[in-house]
This record gives sequence, structure tokens and C-alpha cells, in this order.
Amino acid sequence: MQTNMQRLADHLIRYCKRPDHVEHEQTAIHRAIVNDSSLVDQPNFTRISTRTLHELFREYDQRFFLGQTMQLVHQRSGSLNFRLSKRMTKTGGKTTRIDYGHTSASGRVRSYEITLSSHLLFQGFKTPDPKERVSGVVCHDRLEATQRIFEHEMLHLMEMLLWVHSSCAETRFKSIARRMFGHTESTHQLPTRGEFAKRRYGLTAGQRVEFQHEGERLTGFVNRIGQRATVLVRHPGGELYSDGHRYRKFYVPLGQLAPESMKRD
Ligand SMILES: [Zn+2]
Repeated sequence: MQTNMQRLADHLIRYCKRPDHVEHEQTAIHRAIVNDSSLVDQPNFTRISTRTLHELFREYDQRFFLGQTMQLVHQRSGSLNFRLSKRMTKTGGKTTRIDYGHTSASGRVRSYEITLSSHLLFQGFKTPDPKERVSGVVCHDRLEATQRIFEHEMLHLMEMLLWVHSSCAETRFKSIARRMFGHTESTHQLPTRGEFAKRRYGLTAGQRVEFQHEGERLTGFVNRIGQRATVLVRHPGGELYSDGHRYRKFYVPLGQLAPESMKRD
């Protein structure tokens, strides 16, 4: 049993295929998902389910991890789950291990879970010619971005299975990610709401903006960007802020804000 673990550990540590081989495998997975998946029917898919994550897992396991991952999960007395989260708004993916600290009837004492943020996946790739950088790699469609995040999380899973501790900030992870998948960065990020607002609408926090409110043109500055922008407008009846001025707060849809016109009063 130990040899299986050793074999996989050696495989990761020594992995050294040509970049075009790696790309070929990644493209083959991309094609397989579009062709075979029941939900994902185009690279910029509009629906995804955990079944797609299971399909991705099977493909990556076969093509990159010697088809041995599940055996390793079982050797660790674990189970493996996949999840999509609408609530993860800052990171594209997350891999967790839960140790139950006891032996259950089935012998499963820990579970591993890979979660991808459907929220971030669906936020990007809306423009006619989209490009997002994920793990340092330029992705041209939502499925490519999904794969880059999944690859990153698969490596977290493999490190947890083989060496228990996993960190994408450390040299071992970075080295495997670069050789195996061509990743040059360890970020989990797709554009967050703030970056999205900046690109799509040219909005940043602190910026002076104008908008219509009940027939009146108001001028203020962007305080926060969330689902809508929080805009503070100077007003004698408003709340006192630490800069010594009084402001009224407005929640304005991003599309209704315009940069303040040049003329100042
Ligand atoms: Zn990571």
C-alpha cells in the first residue's frame, strides 16, 4: 500500500512533461467536458453542477494523477466531495480536510472537499472578447478558468493526501503547479466585484461620481462597491463622518453612476 503513495509522490515531485504535452491534455479535458457533459454545452457555459466537477475529477485523475487519487483517498480512510458555492465571493476555489477524530462504522475518519465558487465563475466572461488571468494563465472562456481553479485545488488535495500539510505559498506546491499545469501564480482569484466594477464601468472606490435621484442630479464619491455602489453625498442633514463633513448615503446600481463631469462648483 505504501508503494502506491510513494509512486504518486515521486510522480508529482519528478513530473517533467513538455509544455505542449500539458496543453494538449488540458485541451483534451476541455473538449471532453463540452462534448460529454450533460450541463456544460459550451465553453462559456451558463449552467454547471457538481456532476461537472466529478467529470473534471475523473479526467484529471486519469491524465495527470495515474488514476490513483481515489485509492489514495481510501488509504487515508477518507471520502471525497465536490461542492459549488455562490457565497464564496473572494476566492475561486477551496480544498478542505475534515478530521473526525474517530473511526466510524464505514472506517471513514476524514473527508476531503473541493469547492469552486460558481459566483465568481459566472461573474467573469460576460464581455464579447473576455480574458481572465487565473493562476497566472490567461483564460479565454469560463471552462478554461474552471479548469485552472480545479487544477489548483487538485494539487491541494494531492498534497493533503500525500504529505498532510498543503500550502500554495510554499515552494513544493508552486514547483508542481508550474511543471504539471503551467501555473505561474498561486492566486485563486477571478475578478472580484471591485475589479469587475472598475473594468466594466470604470468605477473605483474613492472616485467622484454623479447619478440621478428622484429627478435630481447628485454628486458624491464612491465609498464601497458591492452588489451596488455605496455613494456618499455631502448634505447638511447627513451623518457626520470622520473627515468632519456630513454625508447622506445612497445605494446606487453600478450602471447608473457616471464619473463627475469636469465642471466643479
Ligand atoms: Zn491555494
